[in-house]
Amino acid sequence: MNLMERAKLAIADTYSRLPLVFVRGDGCRLWDSRDRVYIDFVAGIAVCNLGHCNAVVNEALEKQMKRLIHVSNLYYTEPQVELAEMLISHSFADKVFFCNSGAEANEAAIKLARKYSKPRYKIIVMEDSFHGRTIATLSATGQKRFQQGFEPMLPGFEFVPFDDIEAIKKNIDIETCAIMLEPIQGEGGVNFPSNGYLREIRELCHKKNLLLIFDEVQVGMGRTGKLFAYENYGVEPDIMTLAKALANGLPMGAMLARDDVAKSFTPGSHASTFGGNPLCAAVALSCIRTMVNGGILTNCERMGNYLIHQLMELKQKYSFIREIRGKGLMVGMELDFPGQGIVDRCMEEGLLINCTKERVLRFLPPLIVTEKEINFLIETLDRIFSEIVV
Ligand code: PLP
Repeated sequence: MNLMERAKLAIADTYSRLPLVFVRGDGCRLWDSRDRVYIDFVAGIAVCNLGHCNAVVNEALEKQMKRLIHVSNLYYTEPQVELAEMLISHSFADKVFFCNSGAEANEAAIKLARKYSKPRYKIIVMEDSFHGRTIATLSATGQKRFQQGFEPMLPGFEFVPFDDIEAIKKNIDIETCAIMLEPIQGEGGVNFPSNGYLREIRELCHKKNLLLIFDEVQVGMGRTGKLFAYENYGVEPDIMTLAKALANGLPMGAMLARDDVAKSFTPGSHASTFGGNPLCAAVALSCIRTMVNGGILTNCERMGNYLIHQLMELKQKYSFIREIRGKGLMVGMELDFPGQGIVDRCMEEGLLINCTKERVLRFLPPLIVTEKEINFLIETLDRIFSEIVV
């Protein structure tokens, strides 16, 4: 039996996987078990923002691994405190809660918003959003297909269309405590807010005494060319969640909040055994240092502009490309037809891309991607698109 057959027998069947077994990575490249190389425009779905096996990250990992991997949060460790200080010094926030994933960070945000706002408990969330797979975060996710079979959902989430400020206004009542959204929707199809939308939400939250929660699990950590996506819009949330690229592939999540809000969490309110353990914290610390000092954000912005420009040229050529949407290296291409066939063809050509919301090809390379690698993507897509007869 080969590995894929063994996986079918031994691993719960929750993913549709491509027939690839990866064994090695370096920068924007991955090698499979037949030693074939692939250029990676998925990056673990916006996780390996500094590239695979980044030397600085590996060094931090090795160094900490030899000193201390885990102690309970009943004690203190230096990497955890340093990481919290680092996140605070580069964001709106005053306090950090550490966990292990995006869903957990959002769980913490939902719990904190409820505790702070008691007895108000309703949270306005967006259609086409994605916040995770735990029952609370699934209940907050505005895509029915993920919820099917797991009903009843947790009460207290009111759905409105993304980018519609009037719909939010109409849905606020005396039990509403927060508005929660991804500043740019990822899984929902790489959807960007119109000018002024996030600012209007911020003003509404001030006026109605509501908390503003930004889920930056996918768009945070440099993906848009700024360390945090909200910086692009000049709008600060009260609570923000991070995960994915926070430790470049080690499981790590965080919920950041303003001090007066965070005060609602007291000893015993919330916890996570692994959250902020010294190994993941030391790696995350090295990631943020690299990101803010190493020209990564500038490269992300420059390469993002180049990628979007090149994709726009493809759009001129192929009428089935509906729209190119992007900021930094958070980039989507909406097609007239389902995109999985294109993803499969790209794989055959040694290129990894992803498709979300059925028709949106998503490009999320490591932020260290080069012009040459982008040219490879464009040439490959061009070749594949030219085979399509419409
Ligand atoms: N929030 C957003 C915006 C996401 O994109 C994701 C995952 O794709 C999550 C939350 C859930 O993160 P995790 O899979 O780490 O629980």
